[in-house]
Amino acid sequence: MGAEMAEKPAGNCHHLLDELGEYLDGEAAAATCAEIERHLAECENCRAVVDTLRKTITLYRELPPPELSEAARARLCKTLDLSALYIEHTQR
Ligand SMILES: [Zn+2]
Repeated sequence: MGAEMAEKPAGNCHHLLDELGEYLDGEAAAATCAEIERHLAECENCRAVVDTLRKTITLYRELPPPELSEAARARLCKTLDLSALYIEHTQR
């Protein structure tokens, strides 16, 4: 009796927060996205978390690219050990 109350607002939060990274990167499976969005519709806490994370990510992505010469960028990539990435990128 009374065991049918499955809708616990906070029940899924931890599980959900584990998936948020993938969700925000657009890498989560469609089912996971749907699950997260459904939870967000009901859970103000998680909505706030997602909102903050999304803004942070958006800020990073929208930062204007620094004005670097090719040489400076190559050096930076090498310094950051991204030289492989850099080479791959320029060959495309
Ligand atoms: Zn939640």
